[in-house]
Amino acid sequence: MTRPQSAPDAQNPLLTDWTGPFGLPPFGAITPDRFRPAFDAALAAHRAEIDAIAADPAAPSFDNTIVALERGGRALDRVANVFFMIAGADTSDAIETIEREVSPLLARHNNALYLSRALYARIADLYARREALGLTPEQARVLERYHTRFVRAGGALDKPAQDRLAAINERLASLGTKFSQNVLADEKSYALMLEESDLAGLPDFARAAARAAAAERGAAGKYAITLARSSCETFLQFSSRRDLREKIFQAWIKRGENGGATDNRAAIAEMVALRAERAKLLGFASFADYRLDDQMAKTPAAARKLLDEVWTRARAKAQAERDALQEKIAAEGGNFALAPHDWRYYAEKLRKARYDLDEAEIKPYFQLDQMVAAAFETARRLFGLTFTPVDVPLYHPDARAYEVKDAQGRHVGLFIGDYFARASKHSGAWMTSLREQEKLVGDVTPVILNMCNFSRPAAGEPALLSFDDARTLFHEFGHALHGLLSNVTYPLLAGTAVPSDFVELPSQLYEHWLEVPEILQKYARHARTGAPMPQALLDRLLATRTFNQGFATVEYTACALVDLDLHGLAEPAGLDVGDFERRDLAALQMPAEIVMRHRLPHFQHLFSGGGYAAGYYSYMWSEVLDADAFEAFKETGDAFDPATAKRLREFIYGAGNLRDPAEAYKAFRGRLPAVDALLKKRGLADAAA
Ligand SMILES: [Zn+2]
Repeated sequence: MTRPQSAPDAQNPLLTDWTGPFGLPPFGAITPDRFRPAFDAALAAHRAEIDAIAADPAAPSFDNTIVALERGGRALDRVANVFFMIAGADTSDAIETIEREVSPLLARHNNALYLSRALYARIADLYARREALGLTPEQARVLERYHTRFVRAGGALDKPAQDRLAAINERLASLGTKFSQNVLADEKSYALMLEESDLAGLPDFARAAARAAAAERGAAGKYAITLARSSCETFLQFSSRRDLREKIFQAWIKRGENGGATDNRAAIAEMVALRAERAKLLGFASFADYRLDDQMAKTPAAARKLLDEVWTRARAKAQAERDALQEKIAAEGGNFALAPHDWRYYAEKLRKARYDLDEAEIKPYFQLDQMVAAAFETARRLFGLTFTPVDVPLYHPDARAYEVKDAQGRHVGLFIGDYFARASKHSGAWMTSLREQEKLVGDVTPVILNMCNFSRPAAGEPALLSFDDARTLFHEFGHALHGLLSNVTYPLLAGTAVPSDFVELPSQLYEHWLEVPEILQKYARHARTGAPMPQALLDRLLATRTFNQGFATVEYTACALVDLDLHGLAEPAGLDVGDFERRDLAALQMPAEIVMRHRLPHFQHLFSGGGYAAGYYSYMWSEVLDADAFEAFKETGDAFDPATAKRLREFIYGAGNLRDPAEAYKAFRGRLPAVDALLKKRGLADAAA
């Protein structure tokens, strides 16, 4: 017996009420074939809700328009949250096929919502009368956000312009999906398979991880270096085999640029042209102008000013670092110029020489479990939260769930950590949610996830992190707290629904507590002996904080500048992506020994959905905020100062999008941030500008 694909299916576990523990989806019953019919039913249901609101004969009111919109689309949210979580963390051919099918459907659906002239008329009418509606501050913010969203989506444009926007949006959605699937395909299809004799220089933990990666690929007894950042960067840092370093580095930086079906360059050119066209239809000179208009930075010039201030200093520092590395090569009798695949290796050697510190000595002190505990303890001391492991059915055996409670023992939400790299997981690290906090339809508590790509240990061995990995863990956990502590009524404003140049504040700020001595002393314990990290080693580790920061800052800032330049093009038609990247970097005087942290053909922040398109500067923008915000704690002499933590919770972590970001920051800090703390943190304060 067959049934039409979109027939309502009362038994579909994605559409029934989730009555299991913590209202989690019944993962065991969710097979890939359930998603398409669930999407079809949920899209139709939401469409009917939208049409009913738009056609309501009653005069527009906050209730019959804004509240009705906020209450709608619940089934779709649930299906989409589960689907995209799985598509990121545990994908398969079946899931990828559905992803390609539904991404244009979702774009079409959003078009129907945001390009509805009847809906826009109701919202515009309410917005014009907003002062007279007797709204609470939160309601006024929700109305303002809806109005801005509709205007920015093209709700106020004429029909031909709207039709063109709709077509652009659908095409962009398909291209974005294809882009990220191509990157994953290039990552999955490559592994540098090595023999024991190829491992010169690699410490034990790296050998164990390479052995586990090979076993996962069915090559037990061999060693695999993969294109996951933690695998590849570790190899570049330690391997004394220059030929192999070059091999893996080339594969890494060529992701999405290998010709054939997974080459992303044509897709990028098309996306950039479509984005520019959309911006123009909406009355902006370029996509960057359009994008930044609704960010804290407001204009590309403001973002550029910050980046330029950092860039000149970072380049000067990187050049000094390069000279020191070249000297190191000469001192060892090497007769070659430092190349990009040499930088991490010689930087590690220099660090060892200068600070008597090597990664292999540090790493046993950074056990995954201990660092998770450290992130939890920080949240307890700042916000009174506790985390208790709970045994609930999840989507993958790697994932672990914790119930989160506040100081009074009240349920706050559920946190799920999924930390290991695997072939079915997209690269990078991110936070996502299965349910967001709100109070509109009862007291809804959040379910928040952190995804990372740390190297899986060999069987029976503890999972060890690099200091950078530990920082990533704290970073993503900061995002998680932004979701968990959210305390708003309307879903539109919940948690991380803030401008992208503000959303990295809670995450980057949280990284600072990893370096607080009382946290490190307690949680940085040796995997074998359980001994705390010796004070002298800890001091040396913290002393290296600004080591190699010229490199790190150049690697990042180049990406942010190229992104702004690319999306600042007014007429990008016929773009040659490789040529643009080369010319732009040359104009910026990019040091030849450093490659962009994400080259355009695999720059997922910009092209997998476009969340950070013309927005990669956000990390630096947020870093100005986080460096300055942590100073607020330092000024009290207590990294956990209760009064400062209380303001931080009220105005930042718990506040979602209740306020304009600049106002929120001022409410926390008493003033707007200054750039000095950032320059000091990166060791750039003294570098020549
Ligand atoms: Zn982040």
